[in-house]
Amino acid sequence: MAHRYPFLDLATVNSPFIDEISRAVDRVVRSGRYVGGEEVAQLERNMCALTGAPHAVAVSNGLDALRLILRAYIELGMLSAGDEVIVPANTYIASVLAITDSGLRPVLVEPRRDTLNIDSSLIEQAITPRTRAIMTVHLYGRVAWDNLMAATARRHGLLVIEDNAQSIGAVADCNGMFASQAAGAIGHAGAFSFYPTKNIGAMGDAGAVVTNDNRLADTVRALANYGSDRRYHNIHAGFNCRMDPVQAAVINVKLPHTARENDYRRSIARIYEKSIDNSLITKPLWTDGNNHVWHQYVIMTPDRDNLRQYLAENGVETDVHYATPPHKQPCYALLEHGPLPVTERIAAEVISLPVTRCTSADDAAAIARIINSYTGKR
Ligand SMILES: *Cc1c(COP(=O)(O)O)cnc(C)c1O
Repeated sequence: MAHRYPFLDLATVNSPFIDEISRAVDRVVRSGRYVGGEEVAQLERNMCALTGAPHAVAVSNGLDALRLILRAYIELGMLSAGDEVIVPANTYIASVLAITDSGLRPVLVEPRRDTLNIDSSLIEQAITPRTRAIMTVHLYGRVAWDNLMAATARRHGLLVIEDNAQSIGAVADCNGMFASQAAGAIGHAGAFSFYPTKNIGAMGDAGAVVTNDNRLADTVRALANYGSDRRYHNIHAGFNCRMDPVQAAVINVKLPHTARENDYRRSIARIYEKSIDNSLITKPLWTDGNNHVWHQYVIMTPDRDNLRQYLAENGVETDVHYATPPHKQPCYALLEHGPLPVTERIAAEVISLPVTRCTSADDAAAIARIINSYTGKR
């Protein structure tokens, strides 16, 4: 085998930042302040600057960010047990886990085959008298927001919660509910993840909530700190979901480079877009601008496992996001939902190509050539 094309190696991804990260972590080590403190406060200011949202709360991870948003709305009386939350059926399971964990009912809606995001034209018919919110998921880096979703949310007075674990730095191509079009700040509240493999990854778990609602921000902040609004005074039965300042220091080094890192992914995606030409392969719907930040470059083919094996034999590492949709997981065997054929077909056909700093422009061109030589089942 001539050459190996890795899918992702986090040491390579982080190598441009290693010296600065080491100095930042050293500052935390020497500060004596190991919970909260200046790095965490700085991260919150950075998230406000990045998204245009007036409030940001640093938290423990992306799932907790989603759980805290939903729980805060419950504490504020804006959601209650049994309320329905519309969510795409084609998502990572964390979106759905946050809803069920909060005693709310996920209503799974089919995605579009082209964007792989929730099909806005199907939201209206999924709304019942119990529907209170839409959790939109900007999957694979593509913003899931359009004028139809905005109009539907407004007409029915729905909360818009964004699962923005995969699309940091992305920008919607139409107006949000408020001033910002930045993914995560389009709706009423947005959840971010800094899991190491995300576009801006920490060196452990971390996440954030952004919102333009100061009451929601205060409630999330209290809930993440045992439910206390001040020391030894607990207004909610809360959790410990605070961000580790060592992780905050790591993220603060990388956050200012979000646009540059996303541009690099886009440059690799553009090579695939220009070079992959094989009738057996469906490429992702191309978009040049910031509406897509290419967390994953996901192609589809009817015999996915055969293509994966062919690519592996040619040195190309791939991954699958995700082979089993949430409603097919054992934990959701009893979850009610309608037929989801689009979601199930997508799950059977998707394959993620390498699209990080581990892939050079030459690598991407070579991978495209390998894919173009694929002739299907042998
Ligand atoms: C990664 C991810 C999450 C969860 O984030 P963690 O930080 O891993 O808890 C939630 N939703 C989506 C779509 C994700 O990709």
